[in-house]
Amino acid sequence: IVFGLMLIVGPETIFAQKSADAAIEKKIDRLLGKMTLKEKIGQMYQVSGPTRDAAAMQLIREGRVGSVLNVNNREDINRLQRLAVTETRLGIPLIVGRDVIHGYHTIFPIPLGQAATFDPELVKEGARVAAQEASSDGINWTFAPMLDIARDARWGRIAESFGEDPFLASVMGAAMVKGFQTERLSDKGTLAACAKHFIGYGAAEGGRDYNSTNIPERLMRNVYFPSFQAAVQAGAATVMTSFNDNDGVPSTANPFILKKVLRDEWHFDGFVVSDWTSPEEMINHGFAADRKEAALRSVNAGLDMEMVSKCYLNNLEELVKEGKVSISTIDNAVRNILRVKFRLGLFDHPYTDTPSTNPFYTDDNLAKAKKAAVESVVLLKNTNHLLPLTSAVKTVAVIGPLADAQHDQMGTWVFDGENGHTQTPLMAIRKMYGDRVNVLYEQGLAFCRDTNKSRFPQALEAAQKADVVFLFVGEESIMSGEAHSFSNLGFKGAQSELLQELKKSGKPIVMVVMAGRPMTIMKEVAAADATLYVWHPGTMGGPAIADLLFGKEVPSGKLPATFPKESGQIPFFYNHNNTGRPAPENVMTLDRIPLNAGQTSLGNTSYYLDSGNRPWLPFGFGLSYTDFAYGNLQLSSGSMKKTGYVTVSCDLTNNGTLDATEVVQLYVRDIAGSITRPVKELKGFQRIALRSGETKKISFELKAEDLAFYGIDNVKKVEPGDFLIFIGGDSDTKLCQKLIVTE
Ligand code: BGC
Repeated sequence: IVFGLMLIVGPETIFAQKSADAAIEKKIDRLLGKMTLKEKIGQMYQVSGPTRDAAAMQLIREGRVGSVLNVNNREDINRLQRLAVTETRLGIPLIVGRDVIHGYHTIFPIPLGQAATFDPELVKEGARVAAQEASSDGINWTFAPMLDIARDARWGRIAESFGEDPFLASVMGAAMVKGFQTERLSDKGTLAACAKHFIGYGAAEGGRDYNSTNIPERLMRNVYFPSFQAAVQAGAATVMTSFNDNDGVPSTANPFILKKVLRDEWHFDGFVVSDWTSPEEMINHGFAADRKEAALRSVNAGLDMEMVSKCYLNNLEELVKEGKVSISTIDNAVRNILRVKFRLGLFDHPYTDTPSTNPFYTDDNLAKAKKAAVESVVLLKNTNHLLPLTSAVKTVAVIGPLADAQHDQMGTWVFDGENGHTQTPLMAIRKMYGDRVNVLYEQGLAFCRDTNKSRFPQALEAAQKADVVFLFVGEESIMSGEAHSFSNLGFKGAQSELLQELKKSGKPIVMVVMAGRPMTIMKEVAAADATLYVWHPGTMGGPAIADLLFGKEVPSGKLPATFPKESGQIPFFYNHNNTGRPAPENVMTLDRIPLNAGQTSLGNTSYYLDSGNRPWLPFGFGLSYTDFAYGNLQLSSGSMKKTGYVTVSCDLTNNGTLDATEVVQLYVRDIAGSITRPVKELKGFQRIALRSGETKKISFELKAEDLAFYGIDNVKKVEPGDFLIFIGGDSDTKLCQKLIVTE
């Protein structure tokens, strides 16, 4: 490994890194030697918003707080640091955390939207922007990226995730970590990243937030661990445990994940923080009788820092005295925390200077946010090439609760992005295209859940006067995110009725859906002429959408999660295992099973009588204003050794009249394994820009090790045998070649 590393970074860098690490360990030794047990336990406590709480401020002065969260301005943060650095006995600086999830002031698309870009470089740049803005206010640490695999859109936090696929989430998560942390944590303008929520939170039963999960170890290793392991390999400084209990064990006190996997297998050397009061929640879980037992079970499992609740603060001393927690357990936790503080350079530079220029909403940051918003948009439908608008369109009617909703288009987990800086679609269409078209505006509904139809007549009148209708509907920001699960994923309020009302105008309707999750709006999309799915696109959503509608940009986003027809089909994900019952072709393709009177089924196979066994839209799906054609799939060899690789190539042609970008996706299927194997698994993707009429040869290097998985003996390895290698524009692609892997 060291040799491999040397090839990338050179021996001097490795040597310099090693001696820096050794110097830090020495400093930690010296500091630990001076610390009282109380001071050590203090490092393991994180307090929220202490500036409003005299008792919390006093604890900081006493050296009994290691970290704060929910403080977001330089003056307050410097004031708190001064307490820690100048008034405590040992002067250990605080580490200041905040949820900088998809931007700080300049807001980028929600992570699910960022995943739809299939553009890791852009995700990295977005995290860089967020880190520069947030660190200018004295924030050192962000609780991101969220790496939970989300196969259930009922779960409101799917918005914060990179979707359902372990490979995509791994690539995007690692990119985000590198964006926040750059090369060295001590560089100016960095944030320590936090890989959360370890582990399984996205699999909450029924999609109900905080609910139990039941993920067996092999599934954990094949599906839920990889994104976290990728983040750890990318250098993530911290990890956060999840709220859920898995198979009866809350993550916050699970030594298997925190010790065996994270430390022993992945060699993670940063620190682990709990989620908000998650140690205390173990009492309600029925896992700890009281706070003392919660502290005991968490600390012995490997939880280093407790967020907000005080199980550690008030009980660890006694537990050490009683011999139930060893001093080396405490020392290890404190060592992990101090290591990150040293790496961040906090001991040398605890305070944050006032920047010479305003770091928020700079032209460069806004341009990057706009690019991310453009690339995140997925075109679901475009009948008769309605989009982009032609010059024949003279008047547009902009309608809907989300056409001019500065707050809502930023999405969930936004604390610092200001509404006043958000550019909405209405604002952007007027400003950027107002000289080209007349813009009529009617809200129709005041907000997405509104059922009051009194403004429908005005909306219909605007539609009648226009050549094209833009209808902005979906979910307000508050309808996704933490504790915002839904069992019904259709439009809320009277949004579907508004669409029906506008249909009466007979004018073509472009529906623009802002949402934090896949919605089951198959009928509404069928009723509209074109649909753009734009997620919650952030500060620059308006200009991005305007440029897409008017053809300055061409959509290139792809769905990072399967869109079911009905929420009753959930969980529905593309990389599922097959049943033993092959479905007849008509079951595969029909939306509903047409049964004659007296007929009760089409045979004993696996499908829903009312919705078939296919989703509405597959993972990876997304149209363009142009048409792409795939062909000539070739493997450099029909077989490879289990240590080898093959080159997979195909020709991609842009058959349309516009230059555009396609996300080319590589999938594999293992025909038979020591355990049942998914029908398809994503193993690679590339964004390819093609001019109109152009053909390019696209190549992927597929290594045998990319085919490895945890099989019957729970060990990761490549199993020789037959595979199918697929290339295409979504996970439904049928273009494939056989590959044989040999010993
Ligand atoms: C969330 C975390 C978040 C933390 C701090 C919790 O409720 O689950 O994702 O980082 O709060 O705000």
